[in-house]
Formats: sequence, C-alpha cells, structure tokens
Amino acid sequence: MSNEKVARVLYEIADLLEIKGVEFKPVAYRRAARNIEELDKDIEEYLKEGRLREIPGVGEAIAKKISEIIESGELNYLKELREELPAGLLQLIEVPEIGPRTVMRLYKELKITNLHELKRAAEEHRIRRLKGFGDRSEEIILKGISLLEHRTGRMLLGYAYFYGKAIVDYMIAAGGYSLISTAGSLRRMKETIGDIDILVGSDEPEKVMRVFVENPRVSEVIAKGDTKSSVRLEEGVQVDIRVVSTDSYGAALQYFTGSKEHNISLRSLAIEKGLKINEYGVFKKDANERIAGRTEEEVYAALGLEMMPPEIRENRGEIKASIEHRLPTLVELGDIKGDFHVHSTMSDGGATVEEIAQDAVKRGYEYIGITDHSESLKVARGVAKEDLKRNIEKVREISEKTGGIRVLMGAEVEIRNDGILDYPDSILKDLDFTVGAVHSGFKMSEKDMTERIVTAMSNDYLTILAHPTGRVLEQREPHQVDVDTIIDTASEKGVFLELNALPERLDLNDLNCRKAKEKGVTIAIGTDAHSLAQLNYMMFGVATGRRGWLEKSSILNTRSLKEVERSLGI
Ligand SMILES: [Zn+2]
Ligand SMILES: [Zn+2]
Repeated sequence: MSNEKVARVLYEIADLLEIKGVEFKPVAYRRAARNIEELDKDIEEYLKEGRLREIPGVGEAIAKKISEIIESGELNYLKELREELPAGLLQLIEVPEIGPRTVMRLYKELKITNLHELKRAAEEHRIRRLKGFGDRSEEIILKGISLLEHRTGRMLLGYAYFYGKAIVDYMIAAGGYSLISTAGSLRRMKETIGDIDILVGSDEPEKVMRVFVENPRVSEVIAKGDTKSSVRLEEGVQVDIRVVSTDSYGAALQYFTGSKEHNISLRSLAIEKGLKINEYGVFKKDANERIAGRTEEEVYAALGLEMMPPEIRENRGEIKASIEHRLPTLVELGDIKGDFHVHSTMSDGGATVEEIAQDAVKRGYEYIGITDHSESLKVARGVAKEDLKRNIEKVREISEKTGGIRVLMGAEVEIRNDGILDYPDSILKDLDFTVGAVHSGFKMSEKDMTERIVTAMSNDYLTILAHPTGRVLEQREPHQVDVDTIIDTASEKGVFLELNALPERLDLNDLNCRKAKEKGVTIAIGTDAHSLAQLNYMMFGVATGRRGWLEKSSILNTRSLKEVERSLGI
C-alpha cells in the first residue's frame, strides 16, 4: 500500500465529511493526508515499527484507520460514508467555486448527484431559481465544469467537435485557408477525444502559426514552432496545429487522421505493392519517385483502394472491403427524417411540444417523437397515468395544427426490475410508439439484467429499446448485460434498438451498432433532447452509426413518414 493511496483515502473521508457538514474533522484528515504524502519513507514501515503516531496530524483515531487500510486494503468507515452519499457528489466539490455546503444544497434541493446533472441543471437555468443563486452563478458553474472536464483527460466528442470546428472556422476567416481540417480521433468522430488536432496545407507556414496563436480564444501558447504549435483555449482545451506544404496535404491528412492501426495496415499493403507510404506521400520503393500525396483520394488510389470515410479507419476490415469494392455507403445526417426520443415540458424537458414541432419543421423532418418519462421516474417528473391520456390528446391536436410534420406521441417508459413496463398495456396501446428504458436498479447480475430487458422486449407494445447498455461516458460503466442476447431478441421480436445520440451516452456504441446491423436489426437514432438545442445531437448519433458501418437501410429514422407509419402500425 503506497503512501499516496493511504492519503487518497483520507482525502476522500475529508471531502465526504465536509459535504455532510461535519466541522473540524475534515481539516484534521487533510492535514494527516498531506503529511503522509510528504513522508520520505514507506508508511508500512511506520506501521511495522509502531510509529504511526509520530507522523504529524496522526492521532489515535486516524492511526487506527491507517492500520486497517494497510492491513485489509479497505476501510469500513469510508464504505459507510460512501453509502450515505451518492459517489458523484465528490466530483461536484472539484468544480471551482463550489463548496461542500453548496453541493449539499444542490443535492437536497435539486437532487443533483453528479457533474452531468449539475451541468444540465445550469444549462436549463434551474439553479438560478434557488435562493441565493443567480444567472451569474450558473455561468460560473458551467465554466468550472468545462475546466474540470478538460483537466481529466479525455473530452466527449460532443464538446470537442465544436471546439475543433470553431478553430477551423476561425482559421478560414482570418487566414483564408482552404486546405484545412481537424485530424486524429476527432476527425474519425470517436466518442472521446484527447487533444484537438488541426492540419493546414499552406506554403506560408510562418503566417499559419501566427494566425493560429492570435486567435482571441487562446489563453495560453504552450509551444510555437515553425510548422507546429500548441495552445490552450480559455476553456482549458489543448489544440495542436501542424502545417504541411500544399502538395503533401493529402498524405499528411491521411497520416494524421489515423487510426494508428489503420495506418499500420496501409503500410504493409504498400510494401506488398513495392511502395512506401508516409506523411509526405506514396513513393515507389526503389526509385523513391513520389506517385501520390496531394489529396487523400490520390493516396488511397495509389494503393489500389477506394477513398474511405474517416469514421471507419479503425482497421476493422475496411481495407479488405475497399479492395473488394464493398465499402458500405454510410448514412448521412441529410438522410435523417425524424427523431424518436425527445423530452418536452410534460416531463423534464425544456421546450413545449409546440416549440419542438416547429423546430422539427425547420430541420426538414417529416416526424418527431415525443417521449416523456413515465410515472415512476419521479426525479424526472414522470407523467402520471391519469395525465397521460390528456397529453395524448394535446399532442394529437398539436400534430394536426402543425403543418408539414407529424408529431408522434410516445413515452420513455421505465422498465421495472421485473421487466414489466411502467404503464399498463391498456395505456400503451393508445401511444404511437413506446421507448423502454432502464434508469434504476443498475446493479443487477448480468443474467438478471438481461432477463429483465428481454422480458420488456417481449411486450408487443415496446417499439424501441432506449440506450441499451446504460453506459454514461466517463461516469458510469455499461450495466452488466449480454448485448448479444439483446441484439438477437431485437432481431427475433422486431424491436428497434436505439442509438442514443447524447454525447455522454452514444449507446449503442459503434461496435454494437455493427453487430446489430449484421443481425438485421434496425436502429432508431434518438437525441434524447431535453432542449431544442440538443436536437442537434443527431449529428453525433449519425457519426457513431457511421463508425458502426450503418447504412441508410438499417436506420428507422431515414424512412419516410409513410414508411414509419407502416413500421409502427399506426
Ligand atoms: Zn433514458
Ligand atoms: Zn430520455
């Protein structure tokens, strides 16, 4: 057991006690923790020699706890504390400007238990309604969260995308660059991204470097070189740029987009053909004569390959498929004709059904599905049975009034622990479609969870299984569930599986989408939007589908309204 690990336990106790409002003790635990971190000897030796209490700040009580940690690897006291409070509260105190008392109030008054919920509450302006808070507090909280998100390593695609786009747009506006793109995992639209990489093709590298660091959003220039620079944006995000000559832009873009595994396979293929490939181009191996490099298409063609979309460059069979001319024609955002997962003010959403319908018309959709939470999800203002009938009427009226679109009335219905849906069939039959979801009882065994979901899928009224694995990126692992069985059941019973497009979910993920497609399952992409702006998340759903090799034909919401009505039997 390292000193650092023991200290970490003590720090956590201090944080938890502080959230609980305990006085003095947190300071004592932190002091002991700090002194343990600074010891130049192993703490286990202190224990062996019976000298724990010689460490400054370590009294009898703390010494006993340290022995327990070292001897058993655990601490009962910490376990008990953890059981009293949701684990996510610990992330909340990490947010700059948020103290433990605020965390407790947010928890008690708004039921906020983790960073994700805090962010949503601030975005939806629910915090300013609390006594002593205002719009400025929300601003500070959002800024703090953003800093934190970028400090902890990987960033969600849903955020990285917009930072990348902003930098590229700025470079185009300020420098007039036309050979410019994001690269790396962001260009491949991976669900999480490390740093943001930008590539520019220009024969004036010095100017590119200058324009890049002069961007007013840059808060710190980490490094500025002749052809490479790194900066940090105000929000804490690191952006790296690289400039290459215009005639090798294609080769560089291919090379820096990766993935590494994809590039390794390309290199072996090149060798087989007596060629050499690198970031400058494709060369004849002996003569060193360059045969491609200006564009990516040219690079792939030189290797006898079709151009392939960045999203599938993961060495998952795309090179072979390209050689055999059977690359998939991936779905595009423009193919999408509707959304099957939207929350309105009838439960915990921020926009009314009218507003959602009008927004959907603007997007050129033919239909939009309203799916508010069901009765037992009290934290999300689930709709009581008695109110649902009235809501159905209301939505039907709005659908008729709004020209050019059909508003489909659905519900996101809780799948109870026994697999029974939260509304009875007598109510479900009046809905246009039903989305089933697991939002509680996550800690089941794989067998029980799989059974629970399969039971729900066996209900004829269940149309779509929402976020099938329940993962929340960087926060919660998928629940233990046998995805293959879920996919097989979907195929057998004709249930649609959701690709939830929320940046923190993207569930099913790329690999499972591909599996589902291979089994003939149709995917429904749903944004799970809780505001009009979040309807934009459709693009991340589509991107993840593309990474899963999905074509238009495997996706429910590429179908026309007529076809959807037929599929839903309405
Ligand atoms: Zn849900
Ligand atoms: Zn939802």
